[in-house]
Amino acid sequence: TCGICVEKCPFDAIEIINLPQELGDEPTHRYGENSFALYGLPIPEKGKVTGILGPNGIGKSTAIKALAGEITPNLGNFDEPPEWDAVIDEFGGTELQPFLKGVRDGEIDVARKPQYVDQIPDSFDGNTRALLESADERGVVDELAERLSIEPVLDSDIDTLSGGELQRVALAATLARDADFYFLDELTPYLDIDQRVTAARLVRELADDDRAMLVVEHDLAVLDLLADSVHVAYGEPSAYGVITSPKSTRNGINEYLKGYLDNENMRIRPETIEFEEHAPRVASRSETLVEYPAMSKTYGDGAFSLDVEAGEINRNEVLGIVGPNGIGKSTFAKLLAGRLEPDGGDLDLDLDIAYKPQYVEVDQHMRVDAFLSSITDDFGSSYWETEIADPLQLGRIMEQNLTDLSGGERQRVAIAATLSRDADLYLLDEPSAHLDVEQRVLAARAIRRYAENHETSVMVIDHDIYTIDLLSDRLLVFDGEPAAHGHASTPLGMRDGMNEFLANLDITFRRDENVGRPRINKPGSQKDKQQKRDGEYYYTQ
Ligand code: ADP
Ligand code: ADP
Ligand code: MG
Repeated sequence: TCGICVEKCPFDAIEIINLPQELGDEPTHRYGENSFALYGLPIPEKGKVTGILGPNGIGKSTAIKALAGEITPNLGNFDEPPEWDAVIDEFGGTELQPFLKGVRDGEIDVARKPQYVDQIPDSFDGNTRALLESADERGVVDELAERLSIEPVLDSDIDTLSGGELQRVALAATLARDADFYFLDELTPYLDIDQRVTAARLVRELADDDRAMLVVEHDLAVLDLLADSVHVAYGEPSAYGVITSPKSTRNGINEYLKGYLDNENMRIRPETIEFEEHAPRVASRSETLVEYPAMSKTYGDGAFSLDVEAGEINRNEVLGIVGPNGIGKSTFAKLLAGRLEPDGGDLDLDLDIAYKPQYVEVDQHMRVDAFLSSITDDFGSSYWETEIADPLQLGRIMEQNLTDLSGGERQRVAIAATLSRDADLYLLDEPSAHLDVEQRVLAARAIRRYAENHETSVMVIDHDIYTIDLLSDRLLVFDGEPAAHGHASTPLGMRDGMNEFLANLDITFRRDENVGRPRINKPGSQKDKQQKRDGEYYYTQ
């Protein structure tokens, strides 16, 4: 069992066997007989950023459709859906009631940013400027384009934009609308930390303009920075979901990580997600896989150049790679793989690299199981199941077609495919994108175990500081000026690496007293100043 139910798992039974008692019998909405049921709704509040924290498939989009008036919550009565008035009565006396009245009367305008921005080009023809102008009800597009650094792609066709560019364009288009209620389904995929902080700040400013902001976010450092309160969503993905009453952001995140909801007196996960307040991991002594020399690479037109300090990659380690977008991280990987030659030379490392790109695209009409078994003979072995399929939660999607997968499902299949290849070095570019918090933790664990069990080397580029912290033995830090010049350090220990990386960003982290998770310090706060004086941007012990 998943720990919620005393008896059998409702996912197998589909029928709900033993729901938490205080929920009563009737859901807020049920799609049909034996279909997904949602209990509770989040409460958007004017002037506030409200977060929702929970796994994929737990009913967050369903809840938003109800709040946007796209579906009338049927209170479980899918045969004879009730009228809005009955729904509003049901929520009598709650803070949600006035909001629902507004929805019924068509008085609430809603702007939404979709979760999977990669799909935007399918529904929009034209360039960035045209898309933004069509959304610009507040006359703020120029300012948003500047602050989100969209200007260089204003004249580019939408279908030529990278995922990170699309994410920022989608955010700008949503925030440019003149709405009462904004719903943002994941802000951060494909954005670097600087861009994440900018996005968070823009959302905050709209709340300060007395609008209601509702945000789903799996980057906990960003959610923590952004939200005034959070609703935790729990249950059994695809079977049922429960949305709790709002909690303070700090308590909500801590309870979620602990797997236990205090007010509800409810265990939502058998185990705790731990951020041991460890001193930085000290790289264990291990054999060197490869030493690479100092090198540089200038692209033909001279617009971008990269300088890399000499370094070595060890066996049996996960090397985290951090730095802004457009700074040369992928270029570095291509140099190692021999797919690009450095300036004035030939780098003959002869390394076989298995590479998961940042943007996972699929056009093969093939089932997941057929695809994965075409990559490795280990497919289906108990070893492969335990090490790869289980932690990446592939069981439920094996029979689906690659082209039908959601962004998060595609990500997990791509990580599995990369780790299943035979290679000297594994490079994963942003494996956290579109994964929920639990999936990030499971994927991080699987990647670490893979490196240990195979005595192999894994390099992971990621912008989620929690993921990097859970994963890495050492850090390779990129800095410079995006799209102009990049510089890569030699691989550093975690303490030096985090300090170098975060000093560039001018951000310090403290540790939550309860669960040890890293939290961004308020700029200029006591702790921020002290840690900067001490030169300890991340590890506080
Ligand atoms: P989340 O946004 O948390 O990922 P969703 O609200 O999109 O979750 O979906 C929750 C569950 O409801 C999923 O199992 C999904 O397949 C199911 N679902 C969504 N829309 C419908 C629908 N129109 N009919 C039946 N089931 C649906
Ligand atoms: P990162 O992986 O850190 O996001 P990249 O290595 O992909 O950065 O790119 C660094 C810079 O080099 C970017 O400005 C990118 O536009 C540019 N660039 C990448 N590949 C090429 C190429 N083949 N020709 C010219 N410029 C390129
Ligand atoms: Mg890249």
